[in-house]
Amino acid sequence: MKLAGKTCIVTGGASGIGRSSAIALAAEGASVTVTDLSIEEGEATARTIREAGGRAIFVSCDVSQDEQAKALVEATVSEFGSVDVLFNNAGINVMEGSVVDVSIENWRRTLAVNLDGIFFCSRHAIPEMRKAGGGRIINTASPGSFKGWAGNAAYLASKGAVMSLTRAMAMDHAKENILVNALVPGLIMTGIGHNFLDAQPDPDAVAKGANPLGRVGQPDDVAPLVVYMASDESRFSVGAPFFVDGGELAS
Ligand code: NAD
Repeated sequence: MKLAGKTCIVTGGASGIGRSSAIALAAEGASVTVTDLSIEEGEATARTIREAGGRAIFVSCDVSQDEQAKALVEATVSEFGSVDVLFNNAGINVMEGSVVDVSIENWRRTLAVNLDGIFFCSRHAIPEMRKAGGGRIINTASPGSFKGWAGNAAYLASKGAVMSLTRAMAMDHAKENILVNALVPGLIMTGIGHNFLDAQPDPDAVAKGANPLGRVGQPDDVAPLVVYMASDESRFSVGAPFFVDGGELAS
């Protein structure tokens, strides 16, 4: 039980990497606030945790709205008494093309969810972590934080900024024992992963060539790393990217 007595907030916990990680965090003894825009599926994640004997609540929240992020943290403290871990995982990829093709609305929405969401949730969670004497913040970045590809300008811009923000937050809060790091998943078969593949001219070839392992990842390939990053075992990692990408960025 690596996370006994800890409280974790998982944004985007209704599906994919967030859902799998919320279940894994709870299995290690954490109390988990699952949060998402998607109410039915988010409730289902929390129910799955409770049915397995864990502690979890669902709180509906659009992370791109500061007031909702504040209410999310308040609801967590009210239920579990603290916030020790914030997994800033909620994200979208509208796959709308180059800067010429992407609509202004989709550009702004992508940055609002993928970047502002981290800013809003973190600014309300950090004061609670200070009260607890420290904490962990895990921001979900992307291989696109480190390299480019065609047809995905808004998403790449947002994820590049996630990595920079992770370093900035890491520098600001390391001395408070609030350790901020980035999770870098490769191509993982979730809603976002499927949308990405479906937008490719030859999805099978892209899936097989995504990394040297020759296979796409599953959410359960990622969740154990999230548990490690949330736990005391990651105590010497600050502002670091944690790759779980099948070797995509090594190739
Ligand atoms: P997913 O679509 O299964 O999960 C994303 C979740 O975020 C969904 O449940 C969605 O409802 C939620 N969400 C979207 N907008 C929200 C908002 N405004 N407020 C709250 N919740 C919101 O996809 P996933 O792959 O599990 O995505 C998780 C994270 O992983 C994202 O940040 C994504 O960019 C990142 N990522 C995914 C891949 C991949 O290949 N799947 C690769 C690199 C990074």
